[in-house]
Amino acid sequence: MTIKTADVIIVGGGVHGAATAYELAKAGVKTVLFEKEYLSSGGSGRSAAGLRQHFGTEVNLRMAKYNLSVFPTLEEELDTGMKLEFTQWGYMWVAYSDSCMEQLNKNVTLQKSLDIPSVMMTPAEIHERWPYLNLDGILGAAFCGDDGHINPQTLTLAYGHAARRLGAEIKTYTPVAKLLAENGRIKGVVTESGEEWHAPKVLLTAGPWSTPLAATVGVELPVYPERHNILITEPVEVFDCPMVLCLDDGAYFKQCPNGTFMFGRDDPGEPHTVEAGNSAKFLEGVTKSVLKRIPALRGVRVVRQWSGPYDNTPDHNAIIDWTPVEGLLVNCGWSGHGLQFGPSGGRVCKEMLMGETPFVDLHRFRLARFAENDLFFEPAFI
Ligand SMILES: Cc1cc2nc3c(=O)[nH]c(=O)nc-3n(C[C@H](O)[C@H](O)[C@H](O)COP(=O)(O)OP(=O)(O)OC[C@H]3O[C@@H](n4cnc5c(N)ncnc54)[C@H](O)[C@@H]3O)c2cc1C
Repeated sequence: MTIKTADVIIVGGGVHGAATAYELAKAGVKTVLFEKEYLSSGGSGRSAAGLRQHFGTEVNLRMAKYNLSVFPTLEEELDTGMKLEFTQWGYMWVAYSDSCMEQLNKNVTLQKSLDIPSVMMTPAEIHERWPYLNLDGILGAAFCGDDGHINPQTLTLAYGHAARRLGAEIKTYTPVAKLLAENGRIKGVVTESGEEWHAPKVLLTAGPWSTPLAATVGVELPVYPERHNILITEPVEVFDCPMVLCLDDGAYFKQCPNGTFMFGRDDPGEPHTVEAGNSAKFLEGVTKSVLKRIPALRGVRVVRQWSGPYDNTPDHNAIIDWTPVEGLLVNCGWSGHGLQFGPSGGRVCKEMLMGETPFVDLHRFRLARFAENDLFFEPAFI
């Protein structure tokens, strides 16, 4: 059997794998990426693709700020002809309780200290700007007008295609069966068809599938899948409705550039599975909740509903770290906010794989925090 080699092997073609492949290829590193289906077929292509700088911890904010500095020119930079549909119609976190207002205020104060243009809004200010929103029960909101939306499929595909153009090998429909390690060092991967690839460094960006893959070399990851649902309506007249997140029942909605609306809602009762599936319970619950906030949408038809897995960790924050197996880097566990971190995730992984200092301090994302019971709680997560 011929063994093929690369400088870096990436397992998983979601936004993090594809963005890292692009960054490495740009730097001239011989990279091969394995994806079991097609690029964006995991959480990335199934996400709501809300982009925000509303976080309550400094490292997430610094990375979020970097992401929002990349998105406006990314379509041009990747130059694949694919439309990324980036829009900046804003992102609003709506509070219905004093405790939520207090937390939003704290988050916005931190955001402002990092020059992120977030503001707190009163119900009157919200009404003046978006008169079609029903504000019953709302105490106020945090809003950032630079935040917005992107097409999650074309984002991931464009990163992958640009990486390929720059020399990366992108092997789709090529599942990795297991990782290979020898004497405590990573050695490579074996694909399901039995092909063996060797590299001194392997990056695992397989979302919730990272856990069983890491286990093949004895690394335990506390990452598990959780199914989340979403739907799309038929298009209506464009009135640039921002992403609105309701902090009472976890419902969110936004208008996409083509006029369709996207609705989603957190449901703690959803199964912990990577299997996609649709639930009528979600359809009924989310439409009731969203129509209450935006009655003008009554009568609009739903055209599509799907689900996908969050890759959750016990503290809902990512793991970006070298593992105890030398040369094996992981970047996974982004829960419900990982799509937008593609640009910064790709950058820091490229920096780590090339022995450079990451542009942000990644201490809070370390794997050992779970064993040390030093969890990294992000107050602004959905
Ligand atoms: C309904 C929903 C809504 C969301 N909304 C948002 C949002 O508004 N904003 C936001 O930022 N994030 C959101 N997210 C979260 C976001 O989608 C994820 O955090 C992010 O996409 C994770 O990207 P990733 O590249 O790490 O993993 P993934 O996109 O999951 O990619 C992992 C890839 O690994 C591949 N793979 C698995 N096993 C193997 C194997 N053995 N060999 C080769 N390849 C393999 C999979 O096929 C998959 O393509 C949402 C997620 C869902 C499900």
